Amino acid sequence: MTHYGFFLLLVQLHYTIKQIYLKRECLNHTGAHKINNTVEQALVAKSLGKKRVIAETVAGQHGVATATACALFDMECIIYMGEVDCKRQALNVFRMELLGAKVIPVTIGQRTLKEAVDVALGDLIENYENTFYLLGSAVGPDPYPAMVKHFQSIIGRETREQIMEAENRLPDYLVACVGGGSNAIGLFSEFYEDKNVKMIGVEPAGKGLETGLHAATMTLGTPGVIHGFKCLLLQDENGEPSEVHSIAAGLDYPGVGPEHSFYKESGRAEYVSVTDKETLDAFLRLSKLEGIIPALESSHAIAYAMKIAPTLSKDEIMVINLSGRGDKDVAQVAEMLGKM
Ligand SMILES: *Cc1c(COP(=O)(O)O)cnc(C)c1O
Repeated sequence: MTHYGFFLLLVQLHYTIKQIYLKRECLNHTGAHKINNTVEQALVAKSLGKKRVIAETVAGQHGVATATACALFDMECIIYMGEVDCKRQALNVFRMELLGAKVIPVTIGQRTLKEAVDVALGDLIENYENTFYLLGSAVGPDPYPAMVKHFQSIIGRETREQIMEAENRLPDYLVACVGGGSNAIGLFSEFYEDKNVKMIGVEPAGKGLETGLHAATMTLGTPGVIHGFKCLLLQDENGEPSEVHSIAAGLDYPGVGPEHSFYKESGRAEYVSVTDKETLDAFLRLSKLEGIIPALESSHAIAYAMKIAPTLSKDEIMVINLSGRGDKDVAQVAEMLGKM
């Protein structure tokens, strides 16, 4: 690893050497880019004089990052989590409790994301005078998408500075995975005006786009409304959000940040998808080749980069956002490989 916080990865393909850099958000405290956002929003809450922070979480990662920020600033922290997700993510529930948060299982309806959001919004309406809702991605009603983008734009600013230092020019490609879209928009937005920098967002094709078991919002979604904002949405004929699937729990969301919908429609960024299988393969290859275990979310970006690497010319530069580390995913991968 260089002192840039970058890891230079030399991929030898077709006898040419290409420059592929990993932006290592995985080295952040708590293991992903999420902490960039939670620390800043906790500071906003503090400056607004709010003493109580609430959030909802599905996979538990945003809950852990929120609980961490609240512990740092000595704020009360309530995390709503569907009862089903609490069972699936028991270790993260314990982690949040260790950090001093109160985790409240949501027992209505399907007992997962949608209900957790409903209950958290109910709490906010009742307690808005002393409570701040800390949102985990570049989604939700205004001003959250713009605010979260701003807090995650540190990714893009560091990437620009560090690639200039390492290569003395801007990259040709930026590649990032897209769930709600915060790590991707944090990277992309800083390069919006640099028209020669191509941007590629990678979302989960899950078990295959044709199976219905995916979360390929940008690829197959249609305009709709979810959680107080309009975006490309996977929805049924009544406008209800569809069930989504991904090998990476952090990408399991039927909507996507409104700004990504704009980037797609305007053609500024391209959005593609990779399957669970391609993702797992990328997870294994990066671990083995570089000694870096990537989060399954980030492995989507790696998988697509591996696909297009052979088409790059020798002097092209690609930056992949490694949004998080994969320690959290090791048990799941072992199980999938039949090793547990
Ligand atoms: C939560 C998470 C994501 C997805 O969220 P975005 O808002 O799309 O960035 C991606 N990678 C990791 C490691 C995550 O924890």
